[in-house]
Amino acid sequence: MRWSRYFLYTSKEEPAEAEAPSHRLLLKAGFIKQVAAGIYELLPPALRVLKKIEGVVRREMDRSGAQELLLTVLNPKELWLETGRWDAYGDELFKLKDRHGREYCLGPTHEEEITDLIRKTVRSYRQLPLLLYQIQVKFRDEKRPRFGLIRAREFIMKDAYSFDADEESAELSYESMRFAYERIFKKLGLKVVVAEADVGQIGGKLSHEFIALTPYGEAKLAYCESCSYAANAEVVPVNDARVWEEEERPLKEVETPGVRTIEELARFLGVEKERIVKAVVYAVKGEPVVVFIRGDREVDENKLEKLLGTDEFRLATDEEVRRFFGTERGFIGPVGLKEGTRVFWDRSVEGIKNAVVAFNEPDKHLVNANPGRDFSYGPFVDLAQVREGDACPRCGEPLRLERGLELGHTFLLGTRYSEPMKAYFTDRDGREKPVVMGCYGIGISRVLAAIVEQHHDEKGIKWPTRVAPFELLIILLNPKDEELTRVAEELYREALAEGLEVLYDDRDERAGFKFADADLVGIPYRLVVGKKVKEGSVELQSRLTGERWELPLNEAVSFVKRKVEEDKR
Ligand SMILES: [Zn+2]
Repeated sequence: MRWSRYFLYTSKEEPAEAEAPSHRLLLKAGFIKQVAAGIYELLPPALRVLKKIEGVVRREMDRSGAQELLLTVLNPKELWLETGRWDAYGDELFKLKDRHGREYCLGPTHEEEITDLIRKTVRSYRQLPLLLYQIQVKFRDEKRPRFGLIRAREFIMKDAYSFDADEESAELSYESMRFAYERIFKKLGLKVVVAEADVGQIGGKLSHEFIALTPYGEAKLAYCESCSYAANAEVVPVNDARVWEEEERPLKEVETPGVRTIEELARFLGVEKERIVKAVVYAVKGEPVVVFIRGDREVDENKLEKLLGTDEFRLATDEEVRRFFGTERGFIGPVGLKEGTRVFWDRSVEGIKNAVVAFNEPDKHLVNANPGRDFSYGPFVDLAQVREGDACPRCGEPLRLERGLELGHTFLLGTRYSEPMKAYFTDRDGREKPVVMGCYGIGISRVLAAIVEQHHDEKGIKWPTRVAPFELLIILLNPKDEELTRVAEELYREALAEGLEVLYDDRDERAGFKFADADLVGIPYRLVVGKKVKEGSVELQSRLTGERWELPLNEAVSFVKRKVEEDKR
């Protein structure tokens, strides 16, 4: 491809709205264009990368025995009503009506449709196990689309579904997909951590996330360097109740005028935050729910959501606290709490001695409050946010926390969809049973962004050879020089004949401009056709490693070809 004819226009301007490196660089390098919030066009070079990512995914899916099909974007409401997700999915579901008033959604995932397909076609255990997948555009009405392709409202996904006769066989299908995912991410040059995950909206029994570590990811990952445990932070059990070996002291009432926060209270009383029983008040569908947690810990709202079974809650406002309890925020406590209030006790409070608690009187606290004697507590639940240094639930060593980007997600669904949708088959023993399912996603367009997140420097992108839009860039330094032009054209023809994917920068631009563009666009190898041609050589540069080679003209292309093949092996 001649750059002078190619639809690739870089920009020198810094895109103001772009925080994540992938967002910034893909815009600057002319790979993507924004159409509306969270909606992007993939321009020719980006599409070349995307096709290569898809190629890697397809090969590994096919190797695992999965068969590709193409489901529909428009999903009828009726299917989603069968599983209860038409409402449960919430505002992220794009809904629309046709001219007859029939309702549809734009598929954000396809469990409903594929389960419908299976119940129409699979009758017998002889047709199982079965693995099907598609690569398709998906839609999710994100509240806050951000970071370009990382959190977009329209995106490309590979989603696979497994169907088995029993739990045991389903676990084998699940494992084969898990291994395929590990191979895929390795081939794509991505460093990915496999983490235990929450089943969330999709539902089911077992779930793993494949998370690329980057500071712009939305996933908070906890991992342990000693036993390699890794999990999404919201599913990490926190268990750090302290052992308080001290005598119970006499209860005392103290004045704490205007003291609102845990920090202020700890400072005011000269106690450690661990000694304070903190009350966090939520408004759940208009009703108060109080979480009592140790003063040094925070509530994990994902854990709370699971416990409440709804995401319709938020921190109560000052006004609501007043209305619920007739006192001010900061003075809600377990002593004298309004009868009938729904309460959760976080594990961190268990066994606390001589605690500081509020007793629902403004500007006062109790010190040396002891459970059993001064207030009753428990049962205990796990609602605390995990934090750096918490004990690994598997081996007890300190955990580390990192941000990451979820690229893949696997779920062992069981009969979460086949049961309500009646996808039954006749088993060996002649009995009707629901098929056991799994589902497996990879965010293809997000993978593209993640590759840039993990492979770039301050000058631009460094595409790993296997997914690069082109393998070789030939830079003609002075198109007005006939000799240089002749040599560049020859190299270009030779490289094409050798089967290399070549972009030939024949544009009438200054050398500095071309080099800056080359760095930005990030093609892994570049041949510089410049002054050295007079001595019969060209310079080859690697964008990935910074290496340089001076090569005789007649050996340059075959040398590049070898390098490219090595990289892709
Ligand atoms: Zn561990």
